[in-house]
Amino acid sequence: MPLLARMVPSPVSVEIRRGAVAALGDLLADSRVSRLGRVAVAVGRGYGEKIIPAVGPVLEKADIYRVDEGSVDAALSLGDALRAGGYDALVGIGGGRTLDVGKYAAGMIGLPFVSVATTLTHDGLASPVASLEHNGRKHSYGVALPLAVVIDLDYVRQSPRSQLLGGIGDVVSNLNALADWRLAQVEHGDQVDGLAAAMAQTAGEAILHHPGTPEDDDFLTSLAQGLVLSGLAMSVAGTSRPCSGSCHEICHAIDQNFPGRSTHGLQVAVGALFSSWLREDPAIGALDACLRRHGVPRLPADIGLTTEEFTRAVLDGPGTRPGRFTVLEHLDLGPDAARERVEEFVTLFGAQA
Ligand SMILES: [Zn+2]
Repeated sequence: MPLLARMVPSPVSVEIRRGAVAALGDLLADSRVSRLGRVAVAVGRGYGEKIIPAVGPVLEKADIYRVDEGSVDAALSLGDALRAGGYDALVGIGGGRTLDVGKYAAGMIGLPFVSVATTLTHDGLASPVASLEHNGRKHSYGVALPLAVVIDLDYVRQSPRSQLLGGIGDVVSNLNALADWRLAQVEHGDQVDGLAAAMAQTAGEAILHHPGTPEDDDFLTSLAQGLVLSGLAMSVAGTSRPCSGSCHEICHAIDQNFPGRSTHGLQVAVGALFSSWLREDPAIGALDACLRRHGVPRLPADIGLTTEEFTRAVLDGPGTRPGRFTVLEHLDLGPDAARERVEEFVTLFGAQA
């Protein structure tokens, strides 16, 4: 008998609100998450450690592990420690790096992972992808979805503004990724997953048109929901395509060539604006207005890159995701054409600054 519906993998619990961390104990006591109450906690530097006294007796009894770097090596050593400890769940508390290390480490030994986000830097907080450094380079690794996702707006509000702007950049870049995916369908015969596309598009458009600011709970809730939905869209599609197109190829090439210049969400914002302009996307005006409204980077200089450096990233972008067809592969710009287009983009959008 054929399946009557597709089963959509998803966390058993998603909590986005003020005070969500205070209820973490109840969530863990739920037998779906921690049957035996043997929980390990991974915290990063920053807010993660400040949260521990606030989360009640369950986590006070848990073993705490510090995550200092977002590398595969850090994840492997955490995984080894978890295996030896006999835990039944790992709770990761912090920003993107801590959650990525936690997802990878928990996945190594088949442990459920509870993602507790204290900021909204990118869509990794609920995605089946971990972005980790290995041999000096960032790579994306497929991992299991978090079993539960907790986003406490009290902590998010205290996180640095640049991190929230990164979250905005990552979620609105979905619209560029989806336009690339549809282009790949027309030009390259790729199959677009309609459900995954609907989720990623809803997430991107909710922020694209949201009149609020990161000071408002309503806006932060939409941003958090958008990042969660983006992660689920990738899980539904079985690929990062609904949230990762030419914007992300450019971002990955920046990470490879000019590591440490900026952060993921801010780099994909500039990549998305450039690629949308290249594609002559009708949504370019709305995207530009959204980035301006929030002060998200739009130009190479905003993320510490010269025109030449950004051109290098545009040329190297396709090589970061072989087999992925986007507007970059479609136009297949050579060095001279790429530099001309980047200069034209900087002149045009810089003049509007
Ligand atoms: Zn991203």
